[in-house]
Amino acid sequence: MSEIISKIKKQRTFAMIKPDGVLRGLTGEIVRRIEVCGLKIVALKMIKATREQIIAHYPMSDQAWIDRLGEKGLSTFEGLKLDPKHFLGTDNKSEIGRNVAKSLIDYMTSGPVVPMVIEGIQAVDMVRKLAGHTLPFKADMGTIRGDFSVDSPAIANVENRAIHNLFHASETLEEAVKEITLWFKPEEIMEYNRAGDDIMYSKTY
Ligand code: UDP
Ligand code: MG
Repeated sequence: MSEIISKIKKQRTFAMIKPDGVLRGLTGEIVRRIEVCGLKIVALKMIKATREQIIAHYPMSDQAWIDRLGEKGLSTFEGLKLDPKHFLGTDNKSEIGRNVAKSLIDYMTSGPVVPMVIEGIQAVDMVRKLAGHTLPFKADMGTIRGDFSVDSPAIANVENRAIHNLFHASETLEEAVKEITLWFKPEEIMEYNRAGDDIMYSKTY
């Protein structure tokens, strides 16, 4: 039993500061937010991602994911009273999704990124919570995207670019495992005790 519990305490997720986060000097602030809530950063580096890495990172061959990308953008045209057919020449979610995917590759390779591995109880859900909603105007205040980004997917779609939302975080444990393996070699992931681990995670009294 204790083995199962200690595995849960060491759940790992993957996150990445996107180029706009690095260029705006928000790396420290984002890392700080992850650390102060008690999560442990066990791997971190700054690199310029290649197109191949980004294509492997996002589930580009998953039609359902492409459609969801298209839907996320499409859903915001109505609120701005814009007709997607007029501005994009289509209102087909798959077609729009494919264009967003292309923009996403350009965006993610446009500057340095900071991939990292984060460890702790419920790390996947915790880091998604810290990130906030994909679309900046829907991201709650207090989240990374809510506090530091403001962009509209409809406008981004019209301008043929990705929405600039600063930060990536794995959505599920399966996604986390895949992404950690993609961005880090096992020997790049550290194991260490952080001051406070015992107070946060065990009965010390
Ligand atoms: N994205 C975009 N325009 C859209 C929808 C998504 O540029 O209309 C980008 C955005 O940078 C987002 C990324 O595609 O973070 C991946 O989308 P996903 O649906 O996986 O959202 P996330 O998991 O990042 O919240
Ligand atoms: Mg995602």
